[in-house]
Amino acid sequence: MDLQNASFAKLDTLDDYDPNSMPVEQARQLIQHFLHPVEQQETAPLHAALHRTLADDLLSPMNVPPHDYSAMDGYALRFSDLAGDHTRLKRVGSSFAGHAFEGQVAAGECVRIMTGATIPRDCDCVVMQEHAQAEGDVVVIGGGHRPGQNVRLVGEDMKQGATVLARGHRIRPVEMGLLASLGIGEIAVYRKLKVAIFSTGDELQLPGTPLAAGQIYDSNRYTLFGMLSELGADVLDMGNIRDDRESLRKSFLDAAGKADVIITSGGVSVGEADYIKELLAEIGEVVFWKIAMKPGRPLAYGKIGGCHFFGLPGNPVAVMVTFHQFVRDALCLLMGQSPKPALTFRAVCVTPIKKAPGRAEFQRGNLSRNDSGELVVHTTGNQGSGILSSMSKANCYIILPVAQGNAEAGLSVEVQLFD
Ligand code: AMP
Ligand code: MG
Repeated sequence: MDLQNASFAKLDTLDDYDPNSMPVEQARQLIQHFLHPVEQQETAPLHAALHRTLADDLLSPMNVPPHDYSAMDGYALRFSDLAGDHTRLKRVGSSFAGHAFEGQVAAGECVRIMTGATIPRDCDCVVMQEHAQAEGDVVVIGGGHRPGQNVRLVGEDMKQGATVLARGHRIRPVEMGLLASLGIGEIAVYRKLKVAIFSTGDELQLPGTPLAAGQIYDSNRYTLFGMLSELGADVLDMGNIRDDRESLRKSFLDAAGKADVIITSGGVSVGEADYIKELLAEIGEVVFWKIAMKPGRPLAYGKIGGCHFFGLPGNPVAVMVTFHQFVRDALCLLMGQSPKPALTFRAVCVTPIKKAPGRAEFQRGNLSRNDSGELVVHTTGNQGSGILSSMSKANCYIILPVAQGNAEAGLSVEVQLFD
């Protein structure tokens, strides 16, 4: 399939394009083709930089550390002075962190030094205090030392002018510290992605209010809110919409004017009151609406004007699976981040697997090490797409390929950790 030249109009002419049953990988590629990252930049102070995306390459304005310093409490000295097991040196001063020794250190002399303190000019070695004996002004040093020992060198962490972080890098706690260590108090980031979320369904009730007969609590908006907050999106919670065509149409058009992305849950199956796909086709464009996967078969992707639309399934686990497998990467790309394929690896599944061939399946698993230290995974119970409790017990997906059927315990499976 030639994705480069694909457009909505041309989609139908692609050989293997079937919006009614899209293989997982093809759906991922198709979505990517429609994504254009946000371009507007803004400045974020360091405290507000977590989860933001760097809008420029970042060059180091200085050397880190800015001076040679001691990694130990002990004595700074000239290595060439050391001879044998009992070198006697004269102590001529002290260097503390933040208070350097400014004098000269001549041959036969040393300086008391603390961890983090600047190495005096002329010195090239620090001997730990445990390996030295102070006798008044004289320090006796034992044998077995190396030049440069316990000395942290200027620029050994980052060199002035070097590229420290590339454009598109997502800021984590470590980068907040890294930027601070360079003296940088604010950075250029892409603006936040605005993501509008809706639930749909007449049966849904707000947590904290009593349930009437036939109602259930709306949980999807909360998992979505959590997952989007972790990504660093600006979440517009637009509430629950009733199963009513006109209310849905109004709400979608309203949200499309405010947000970069709309994410709904529910209403994408083929029931009487499932209008999402039809409406999307009417006010926007549908790229696909069914994926050959479980859970999550009904998953609509399309656009309303410039706004991306993800119509996730209603079942609470299917919402999380489709978010993790499709939406998360798409949003990261829209935020300007460089794509990072999810890390998967193999482990032995110690429980039997129940699966029918025909669709890729993302089962809930818990990965650990057995007594022999091998990675093993077990399924976390009922795999129904509405069973949120087995999702809560899980720490990974067990990814089963399309052709896989039932299997006894002992099968080697592909595993993807949640975090
Ligand atoms: P639907 O796709 O609307 O037919 O929904 C499929 C299933 O998911 C139904 O059992 C719904 O009651 C349930 N469901 C839909 N939306 C939510 C939600 N926001 N929170 C919890 N369950 C939901
Ligand atoms: Mg519904």
